[in-house]
Amino acid sequence: MSEELATTLDSAAVSTLREAFAGQIVLPDDPSYDAARIVWNGMIDRRPGIVVRPTGVADVLSALRFGRDQELAIAVRSGGHSIPGFSTCDGGLVIDLSSMRGVRVDPDRRTARVNGGALLAELDHEAQAFGLACPVGVVSHTGVAGLTLGGGMGPLQRKYGLTIDNLLSVDMVTADGRLVRASEDENPD
Ligand SMILES: Cc1cc2nc3c(=O)[nH]c(=O)nc-3n(C[C@H](O)[C@H](O)[C@H](O)COP(=O)(O)OP(=O)(O)OC[C@H]3O[C@@H](n4cnc5c(N)ncnc54)[C@H](O)[C@@H]3O)c2cc1C
Repeated sequence: MSEELATTLDSAAVSTLREAFAGQIVLPDDPSYDAARIVWNGMIDRRPGIVVRPTGVADVLSALRFGRDQELAIAVRSGGHSIPGFSTCDGGLVIDLSSMRGVRVDPDRRTARVNGGALLAELDHEAQAFGLACPVGVVSHTGVAGLTLGGGMGPLQRKYGLTIDNLLSVDMVTADGRLVRASEDENPD
């Protein structure tokens, strides 16, 4: 079934996406497709119609527009650790943020800016250089974004709370394709 869904993608629309997209695009006939569709839970064996790896917000917006126009199921992936496989899908679009890694720590403000695909190890590495730490989980290759969306439990939580208790704001692309800042004061809903 998934093979059929994969081949129904509109090739003209894929070509238009390629023109606007700076990151990688992986289709089912690419040699790297199997590696691109794998998630941490080996029991989840789904075959997306297309996997894209944005390099920034512009690519995320293009991918989202493509997915909406083509009426595809859209899954977003950071570290790929979702046990029920929420970061992949059959036949649809996977927006894989693994090319959007990177963490920048501001030691004076004791804050960190974490890109959408960054892993826990990267946040720890950058923070520890300044003697800082953020409460996160215990496995270094979990995504900061996915972990935070689920709360984020770890060894520092009894003293410093969950990861999400330490979240100040997020730059968020909404399902209707807008980039918004969300914090306690801005778009708090
Ligand atoms: C080996 C292992 C160890 C774990 N240890 C801990 C732990 O110590 N503490 C703890 O609290 N949890 C732990 N978890 C649970 C883990 O936090 C969740 O599975 C979490 O959802 C994984 O996030 P991810 O980014 O790696 O996964 P993904 O599968 O990439 O994403 C998980 C969910 O978040 C969404 N998502 C991810 N990134 C974004 C984004 N940038 N924008 C919008 N949506 C996004 C995905 O669509 C999906 O629904 C562990 C899980 C595993 C498999």
